[in-house]
Amino acid sequence: MDDDAARDRLDAEREATLRRLASLTEDFDAMVAASRDTNADDEHDPEGATIAFERSQVGALVRQARHQLVEADAAVERLAAGTYGSCESCGAPIGDGRLEARPLARTCIDCAAPTRR
Ligand SMILES: [Zn+2]
Repeated sequence: MDDDAARDRLDAEREATLRRLASLTEDFDAMVAASRDTNADDEHDPEGATIAFERSQVGALVRQARHQLVEADAAVERLAAGTYGSCESCGAPIGDGRLEARPLARTCIDCAAPTRR
C-alpha cells in the first residue's frame, strides 16, 4: 500500500473516531444531566442503578474512542517516520489485508496473537 492511500485511510479513521467521540460525549453529558435532574443515580433506586450502568458503559466507549484517537495520531507519526506498516515487535511487514481491516495496527498478526505460537 502506498503512503497516500495509507494517509487517506488514517485520516478517515481519525475523522470517524472524532465523530464517534463527539456523539458519545453528547450522550454522556445528556445522561449526567438527566441523572442530576431526577436525582436518579441514588444507588438504592433500581432505575438509578440502570442509569449508572449505562453511564459507565458510555464512559468506557468514550475512553476507547480517545485511545483510538491516540493510536490514529501515532499511526500518522509512524507514516511520517516511514515505519508505518512494519510490525513494532518483529519488524516484519504487517500486511495489506490486516492494515485494511485494522489501519491502526502496530504489530503483525503473529505478534498480535502470541498464544498461537
Ligand atoms: Zn510481528
